[in-house]
Amino acid sequence: MSHEAPTPAANFIRNIIDEQNASGKWNGRVETRFPPEPNGYLHLGHAKSIFLNFGLARDYNGVCHLRFDDTNPEKESQEYVDAITESVKWLGFDWGKHLYFASNYFDTMYACAEYLIQAGHAYVDSLSADEMRSYRGTLTEPGKDSPYRSRSVDENLAMFRSMRAGEFADGAHVLRAKINMASPNINLRDPAIYRIKRAHHHNTGDTWCIYPMYTYAHPIEDAIEHITHSICTLEFEDQRPFYDWLLDKLADGNFFPRPLPQQIEFARLNLTYVVLSKRKLIQLVDEKHVSGWDDPRLPTLVGARRRGYTAEGFKRFTDRIGVSKSDGWIDYSVFEECQRDVLNDTALRRIAVLDPVKLIIDNYPADQSEDCFAPNHPQHPDLGKRVVPLSKELWIEREDFMETPPKGYFRLFPGNSVRLRYGYVITCTGCDKDANGTITAVHCDYLPDTKSGTPGSDSIKVKGNIHWVSAAHAYEAEVRLYDRLFTTAQPGGESGDFLKDLNPDSVRTIRAQLEPVLKDANAEDRFQFERHGYFVADRVDSKLGEPVFNRTVTLKDSWVKTTK
Ligand code: ATP
Ligand code: MG
Repeated sequence: MSHEAPTPAANFIRNIIDEQNASGKWNGRVETRFPPEPNGYLHLGHAKSIFLNFGLARDYNGVCHLRFDDTNPEKESQEYVDAITESVKWLGFDWGKHLYFASNYFDTMYACAEYLIQAGHAYVDSLSADEMRSYRGTLTEPGKDSPYRSRSVDENLAMFRSMRAGEFADGAHVLRAKINMASPNINLRDPAIYRIKRAHHHNTGDTWCIYPMYTYAHPIEDAIEHITHSICTLEFEDQRPFYDWLLDKLADGNFFPRPLPQQIEFARLNLTYVVLSKRKLIQLVDEKHVSGWDDPRLPTLVGARRRGYTAEGFKRFTDRIGVSKSDGWIDYSVFEECQRDVLNDTALRRIAVLDPVKLIIDNYPADQSEDCFAPNHPQHPDLGKRVVPLSKELWIEREDFMETPPKGYFRLFPGNSVRLRYGYVITCTGCDKDANGTITAVHCDYLPDTKSGTPGSDSIKVKGNIHWVSAAHAYEAEVRLYDRLFTTAQPGGESGDFLKDLNPDSVRTIRAQLEPVLKDANAEDRFQFERHGYFVADRVDSKLGEPVFNRTVTLKDSWVKTTK
């Protein structure tokens, strides 16, 4: 796919870069990173960050790193690393040789910590977690110094080395930055930078029993990789002073050159009708409210891919919503509209009857069939036509026949004529019913001189135009019709329990009658089923010659061209 945007829309981050390029701060260098923690699957919110970071790198001839921020071993795993890698690739991005793991920097992070101790900027604290909390103060009251804050450099160094050597129990001590317990910014009240935790790490195994805190590790990761712009979401704004404090001290210690990476915050994506929190997504998967991480109803990127959404549609969406500093909600329909726009242009048209009832053409020979021709895409004649076979018995939508129609109903009812799309004009003669009154077949006669595409075929004008599939040739398949996973725009908003807002009817699985060429669809082939929306051959459950289809999104108006 192509990510060539004509002129990228300006935003405040581009403005910062443009100004810096003008002043020569980085000599034109732009180096960004996308830094997921491998503790879950990526979701639609991450896509915003991916397009932003990789997009800036692309537009400024820079590079964007894929960095696994794996400093918190308990919740991280290789499964997540693999899934994240695949999803970023699927969105169309390439990090080249710039694939990094924060855990590969543990030695440097440790050396930085020893330096901070030696320079008097860090100390080992032995307060319990509860005590530490009460010493921290509140938003309105300053904190107070820990009695351990005045330990000597030598004692701190010896203790920190003992922490590393595994001589203390988990949680017995922490290493803290020595900044200011009275700072109005709580994040500067001597934040913890190392903790003791015996946990197996997916990359470093059991080498370490102390691990750096995220807020300490992240700036160092950026500095090691010579990141120019470290872009993160707004909740890290209050952390920026610590980010700058830490890198400034380490630059003084000649660990890193100046200029130092600059943290820039932007508003995260909030999208209605979904949850974009790893914790909630994990809960949905673990408690089996969905079939797995790639359930097509989930807003994960693996789920989105299975659902049939396209990477191009993601690009259109992230372009449309832009980047700003103010939080807000985007309606899910905006995302769907972007996906629909792309599919409308690219998906081949096919015919599917989702709620089939038989239509019998009584005056058509039982042993005969013939070819009709349907365009693959009405706006792209170059995509050609395909053969749609017609025979005596067809499948049509149950709702396309009514025994006693209301006013304004132009489809089949006794005595009325309609066109079989791409075929003949037919006149309805009646229907069969079972003992319960359910219609089991509709009857009609066709008018032989009216075949679409033949001279004079439109001499008879009809108002209705219905789609159909030849019963003898149809491919019967499983089709899943998805609806929103939640019934409320902000799940859990009122009750506080997002599970209460789960939509009990978020998927309906049906057997549908599809036109024969759909049997040959490959996994991930996308189509517009006329009148029904956009569908994709499921990449997990489809077998060769036996695809099953997921509805990606309905048509804009689910009723296209039934009259003309
Ligand atoms: P958590 O912090 O709970 O693990 P997270 O969603 O922040 O979850 P990360 O792996 O830290 O997960 O995210 C990687 C990057 O994606 C971060 O830079 C983060 O800012 C960005 N990101 C995460 N959620 C969103 C969102 N909803 N909108 C935009 N960017 C996001
Ligand atoms: Mg995070």
